[in-house]
Amino acid sequence: MKPTLNVVARPSAERPDLLKPRRRATPSVSVGGVMIGAAHPIVVQSMTNTDTADVASTFEQVAHLARAGSQIVRVTVNNEQAAAAVPGLVQRLADAGITAPIVGDFHYNGHKLLAAYPQTAAALAKFRINPGNVGTKHRDENFQTIVKIAVEHGKPVRIGVNWGSLDQDLLTQLMEENARAAEPVSARAVTIEAIVRSALQSAELAEATGMAHDAIILSAKTSNVRDLIDVYRELAARCDYPLHLGLTEAGMGMKGIVATAAGLSNVLNDGIGDTIRVSLTPEPGGDRALEVEVAQQVLQSLGLRAFSPQVTSCPGCGRTTSTFFQAMAKEIQAYLKERMLVWRGRYIGVEELEVAVMGCVVNGPGESKHANLGISLPGTFEEPVAPVFVDGALRTTLRGDHIVAEFTQILEEYVAQHYPEAT
Ligand code: SF4
Repeated sequence: MKPTLNVVARPSAERPDLLKPRRRATPSVSVGGVMIGAAHPIVVQSMTNTDTADVASTFEQVAHLARAGSQIVRVTVNNEQAAAAVPGLVQRLADAGITAPIVGDFHYNGHKLLAAYPQTAAALAKFRINPGNVGTKHRDENFQTIVKIAVEHGKPVRIGVNWGSLDQDLLTQLMEENARAAEPVSARAVTIEAIVRSALQSAELAEATGMAHDAIILSAKTSNVRDLIDVYRELAARCDYPLHLGLTEAGMGMKGIVATAAGLSNVLNDGIGDTIRVSLTPEPGGDRALEVEVAQQVLQSLGLRAFSPQVTSCPGCGRTTSTFFQAMAKEIQAYLKERMLVWRGRYIGVEELEVAVMGCVVNGPGESKHANLGISLPGTFEEPVAPVFVDGALRTTLRGDHIVAEFTQILEEYVAQHYPEAT
């Protein structure tokens, strides 16, 4: 008897839902027209690091983040100058055709600023409230003041708990209850419960204050990957609010990117999460939009959304003794990135294009056949030819000094022929 092969196909343009996790059911929340919830694609958002009172710099950064694909941009509103600057900033963005809704991030004095600057409340698309940072003595009162202003202006809120600023009264109360329990649990388990409970109790208070159920988004961020996974699984099981995911204070460079991907992927793959933000520390002079690119790549790698053509390339090995193959993979990646600036607006669905650049014939033709376009370069001791596959079939064999240029020409033709032009 022949063995049965358990073939798992890859998601493709024809079968885009294959392997996608079922999203956890949530209501839909409109943030300035961008819909967040299970019925909508997972939204990518980001946050500026400019002084909001400096309208020129903040405008530039919001515009940059929005052009990179951030669908919502959050700005800090930390003092009177920042609050006063928001309406002008939002107007300037609108005048420039930048439609990404602007969210205000409030800590400590949000109740005062929003009350003193009603035009700021009106201009913002959503208020972020950290229930751990709304005061101690008048915590509930301050929280309710912000919620009431949001209700008056028809704005949604994100109740964003952060383990670094967790409500200490609640944590202490739960720790004491745990100490008295017959079978105490670990301090980590109590902290996770406090984070989740802080979010849920605040949402309950917001609704009791008049906020609609479908105007609340929750987040509960930690900087530890395992904690993040456990917190969000617990939160998801205990409510149906849309969830904003993010590993807070993820760090810099490789560490921040990998930790974010590890944390978010686990949760997203459970169908949990409706909007994501990547909190990378930028390198000095680095590009803030990297956080948008990483968020998009996490979603695209999981097959949840498509943002830009993907290049599959092998790591190379002893069979590829020259760097030609590495240089070509890089050149094609850069070419696609540049051309997407034009293609995105012109060709519908081009972001789903898959290209394979392989180092030799061992896996090259096989991998190339799975992509829309693939090229397999000659490895050491192989005949100096590069077969090109288009939709799984051998289209041509390139040779000589102009392989990259000829391949990108084939790419251009493929895109023009296979993706309908936007009207
Ligand atoms: S495809 Fe060829 S060059 Fe690339 S890793 Fe595999 S054996 Fe090495």
